[in-house]
Amino acid sequence: MTIAQNLGFPRIGEKRELKKATEAYWKGDLDRAGLESAGAELRKSNWEKQKAAGIDLIPSNDFSYYDHMLDMMCLVGNVPERFGWSGGDVDLDTRFAIARGIQDGNKDAIAAEMTKWFDTNYHYQVPEFTPDTTFALSSTKVFDEFEEAKQLGITTKPVLVGPVTFLTLGKVTEGDFDKMSLLDQLLPVYEQILGKLAEQGAEWVQLDEPVFSLDLSKAQQDALRKAYDRLSKVSGIQLLVANYFNDLADNLDLFTSLPVHALHIDAVRGFNDIEPVADRLSNNTALSVGIVDGRNIWKTDLEKALAAIKTAHSKVGGDRLMVGPACSLLHTPVTLRNEAKLDEEFKSWLAFAEEKLDEIVFLARAADGKVDEQMLASNKEALANRAESARIHDQAVQRRAAGITAKDYERQSPYAERAQKQQAKLGLPAFPTTTIGSFPQTQDVRKARAAHKKGKMSDAEYDAFLEKKIQEAVKMQEDMGFDMLVHGEFERNDMVEYFGEKMSGYAFTQFGWVQSYGSRYVKPPIIFGDVSRPEPMTVKWSKYAQSLTNKPMKGMLTGPVTMVQWAFVRDDQPRSETVKQVALGIRDEIVDLEAAGLAAIQCDEAAFREGLPLRRADWAEYLDWATKSFRLAASGVRDETQVHTHMCYSEFNDIIEAIADMDADCISIETSRSQMELLDAFVKFQYPNEIGPGVYDIHSPRVPEKQEMVQLLEKARDVLPADRIWVNPDCGLKTRGWAEVKPALQHMVEAAKELRETTKAA
Ligand code: GLN
Ligand code: ZN
Repeated sequence: MTIAQNLGFPRIGEKRELKKATEAYWKGDLDRAGLESAGAELRKSNWEKQKAAGIDLIPSNDFSYYDHMLDMMCLVGNVPERFGWSGGDVDLDTRFAIARGIQDGNKDAIAAEMTKWFDTNYHYQVPEFTPDTTFALSSTKVFDEFEEAKQLGITTKPVLVGPVTFLTLGKVTEGDFDKMSLLDQLLPVYEQILGKLAEQGAEWVQLDEPVFSLDLSKAQQDALRKAYDRLSKVSGIQLLVANYFNDLADNLDLFTSLPVHALHIDAVRGFNDIEPVADRLSNNTALSVGIVDGRNIWKTDLEKALAAIKTAHSKVGGDRLMVGPACSLLHTPVTLRNEAKLDEEFKSWLAFAEEKLDEIVFLARAADGKVDEQMLASNKEALANRAESARIHDQAVQRRAAGITAKDYERQSPYAERAQKQQAKLGLPAFPTTTIGSFPQTQDVRKARAAHKKGKMSDAEYDAFLEKKIQEAVKMQEDMGFDMLVHGEFERNDMVEYFGEKMSGYAFTQFGWVQSYGSRYVKPPIIFGDVSRPEPMTVKWSKYAQSLTNKPMKGMLTGPVTMVQWAFVRDDQPRSETVKQVALGIRDEIVDLEAAGLAAIQCDEAAFREGLPLRRADWAEYLDWATKSFRLAASGVRDETQVHTHMCYSEFNDIIEAIADMDADCISIETSRSQMELLDAFVKFQYPNEIGPGVYDIHSPRVPEKQEMVQLLEKARDVLPADRIWVNPDCGLKTRGWAEVKPALQHMVEAAKELRETTKAA
């Protein structure tokens, strides 16, 4: 019989129960027992939902109070020394301290680093390895949760991050050695874990090894071979090794040669892997086909998926076949049930985690010949309805996109000529000062926005409120002596949502939250149709701000790549096509801003780097359309209009050519924390346009002294042409408070003045 399985269920709860409980616990409003019972309730509800849906193999240990990589660190005793842990069970507070840092009495330790989980918007805590690293079984969480489910009558499949993925994602913080050399020490702990789970009565364990989605080094390949040769010898338990987030490409043979009981493939991104994997599989290994998209919110095409599953069935037989989501459902919202504001037609196109369970079960049963005809028919109808719907097709947008010519990607003149015209118009001093856009989103700003949204504050009142905020911001910047001003982005909740709400082709959910990290969740908009910008989105505020000052005001927008990267994107056309449409909408806005008298416009591409595909071979294609879409958005203006872009913390070395190819007149980047190290890429490459290397770390409440910023700027001046350096913070200031921001910005403006003096004198 074909097995319906799940790889992981969202842990946050359908109404963000986990966030509420953990944050209350951190604040001291909920005690430990209260938090643990909230956790137990979520787990129970998730298991029962899956059981009721008909999932045969239900995961456990996919739950976490913070992050599953953090849980793995604790499970194998990989606790950085600074947390003062002395062995034994790693308790919950130590877990939270690793995740969030701790400053409490005599304890003072910075958090473990956090970074993106493959190419998702989920962030994990990074394990730290030193020459002294040892491993030991140090947590009972995975065993406790297995037992907890067993008490509820469910024999779960515990989920662990596999040893090679665990080592790959960690970082050597001291000394210089190959992480894979730690494998020999790590494997005995995994053996111990598997042995214990077998004793407890577990039949399957899922070992996640998404490293198979990357380019693997020889050391990683050897490690994978060795790890599974050994772990497969633990008796009394069956291993399922799971790859997800990509196809297998060069790793196909290695993957299929693992001597384990089941192998899971991502058949959404690796649809073409189904047959070759099935053909190569040994007779003792089952195939798990991940055919339901775990990262997007569209209904599966059940007919197409079933055909693929049947092919797999014909090759391996029902006794060696499993059906599941491509990856854990962690990356999708929990349920459609509560979305009362979405209309029925639109909802009929969607499947969140709960609805995906039904699709998985449908496919597994259908593989064995038990087709739920009614479900199939309604799926077909919904898909046809979506494909033909007038809501997603906009002829005007399609015609316009098809009519784009090479000229649309080009500014009128090359940068050198533009720079002269811009300087003549703007008359900026050397080392011009500016900010990245947002100012503190204080309580009053958020309150007014909420009141307006609820209809408790009229449009006129809200407008007057925003005007007042802008007036204050403009006056403050003038008083401080800023050269290029911003309006402060007080009207925006979020840099993607604000624009998405004003563009057609976008939809928003009420409860479609997805964990980003810890208790921080995001609610990505859904791009469902052809995108256009029916009317100006920011012109009113930028124009108003400009009317208050003779200094140049910088218009402020989010770029097309970021608009798409941070959304659930339609799957019925290539991403590059969707980005193009968004770019055209942004282009219209930029042209309108210019017409409204804005001489400088910033188009943020915070997510440019993170959109990079997992394998190098796929980079060129991405960088090509990503760069082009920015140029398309930015090239509608005259030479005199200065286009800025901004990128948050990024490693630029390997994408610097593409960055230069975007041809923004100026780019601001995050460099202060790295002491200007991130500038190296621009220096080596001799980046031809202007750069604003951040000199104020906005992630910290600390107020930098003027002299610190002078030193950073001197470092920049040593390596870059002085007439192309801007002075700005690392990023927007919306998460900070005015008490820190005011003195910090004042110091920054003074640092720029000092640079002007010392540069002139030299
Ligand atoms: N303009 C945005 C701001 O200042 C940029 C934020 C970002 O890049 N993350 O908030
Ligand atoms: Zn930023």
